[in-house]
Amino acid sequence: MTAIWDLPDYDAHEAVHLFEDRESGLKAVIGVHSTHLGPAAGGTRFWHYADNSAAITDVLRLSRGMSYKNAMAGLPLGGGKGVVLADEARIKTPEMLAALGRAIESLGGQYVTAEDVGMSDGDMVEIRKQTRHVAGLPTEDPAKAGGDPGPFTARGVFLGIKAAAKFRLGSETMDGVHVAIQGVGSVGGGVAELLAKEGAKLTIADIDDARTAEIAEMAGARVAALDEIMTVKADIFSPNALGAILTKDSIAALDVAIVAGGANNQMARPGDEQRLFDRGILYAPDYVINAAGIINVGLEYLGDYSRSDVMERIAIIPERLTEIWQQSEAEKTPAAIIADRMAQQLIGR
Ligand code: NAD
Repeated sequence: MTAIWDLPDYDAHEAVHLFEDRESGLKAVIGVHSTHLGPAAGGTRFWHYADNSAAITDVLRLSRGMSYKNAMAGLPLGGGKGVVLADEARIKTPEMLAALGRAIESLGGQYVTAEDVGMSDGDMVEIRKQTRHVAGLPTEDPAKAGGDPGPFTARGVFLGIKAAAKFRLGSETMDGVHVAIQGVGSVGGGVAELLAKEGAKLTIADIDDARTAEIAEMAGARVAALDEIMTVKADIFSPNALGAILTKDSIAALDVAIVAGGANNQMARPGDEQRLFDRGILYAPDYVINAAGIINVGLEYLGDYSRSDVMERIAIIPERLTEIWQQSEAEKTPAAIIADRMAQQLIGR
């Protein structure tokens, strides 16, 4: 058996905490990659894994990603992530969430959680009963701290797409710019709406037919087949569904000048960033362009929340992307590599 220290994704994590609560059935791992900039913040995922080591690998990759994302967003937060190892039926009980809350509380603020795949804002309310180190709580008032991060993420991605169109196409507006969007859920649907308001030409695809029809009508978009969306001739491809969609084959088949979207972990394997760069396609590093949700969640946790502060920080996303692209061109190095280097410098690695 490989020890955690020897795993390829270990990357000198400050801590990896394993929790088991037999009474409730909770089994969880919390990875704390870095607290260099502040408490390690990142959501907790509720997922059924094939085995324990798959869960540990997932937490290690995700928590390092949060260190990079929070640092590049300019937040005084480090990076961490939790995973709960669900059973096959993915049964989640209030007792399990209470045990998770106690586990997080036992870390004394070293780790701050929020929702991730399989967790809702209602689950955060349960966790909040045990610890104050949680954000992403529901709110009725849109001007108050908390709430769904999706619309914030959509705004940040929209601003990033505009910056990319300006940088690569010299376009000051999105009027007539053709964007192919994969996934029109919370983030992609919001991006489609904002782009449509600026006159962009849209092609969309989503596995959810009802959602596709709703967004197509609202945004005046053409609907493409699921296996067509990554080969559509357009100015921009915007992935907002799954990760690992940029593979050797899909990169070769892209017919766009720019890839800019909110999906996490878009590159399938190391080396894909170089392939994209070699094809001359401008890439917006995922954890930079999709950071607006964590900006809202992070400021909620840090307190003294104001909506204008959130919006000001989101407005920095296109500036940061432009800085990355300029450096990428000057050094003839893929944007994803430049972004990683900048993030590592910020977290002192
Ligand atoms: P969501 O579940 O609301 O939307 C995802 C959409 O993708 C759904 O409509 C789904 O039907 C569709 N989809 C799934 N598989 C597809 C496929 N093969 N082809 C086309 N469409 C497909 O999720 P979301 O919150 O909008 O998140 C989208 C992506 O953005 C995810 O990768 C997520 O990790 C990332 N992200 C989200 C946030 C946020 O604030 N919600 C923040 C950062 C990153």
